[in-house]
Amino acid sequence: MSKKPPVAKKEEPPAAAPAAPEAAAEPAKKVQKGKREKKHKKEKGVHAMYKVEGDKVSRARPTCERCGPGYFMADHHDRYTCGHCGFTRYKQK
Ligand SMILES: [Zn+2]
Repeated sequence: MSKKPPVAKKEEPPAAAPAAPEAAAEPAKKVQKGKREKKHKKEKGVHAMYKVEGDKVSRARPTCERCGPGYFMADHHDRYTCGHCGFTRYKQK
């Protein structure tokens, strides 16, 4: 029974990269994973309720009949609703 001696693998060390400080200055491009990019939602706010045409301001949404002016109603596809009192008005076709 003859045992083979473990083959000592001689790995040659990779040739040392030539030191080039100028060339190494460029960082490798990192691909950022994850949800970094945010989808821009349409910003909503009071400014969305008004349309400014020239020097005239018009309201883009109806105001609530119950709450009175100042309470804009949300614009849904088939109705307007008031977020303050819950009043709903269906759009007429
Ligand atoms: Zn209301």
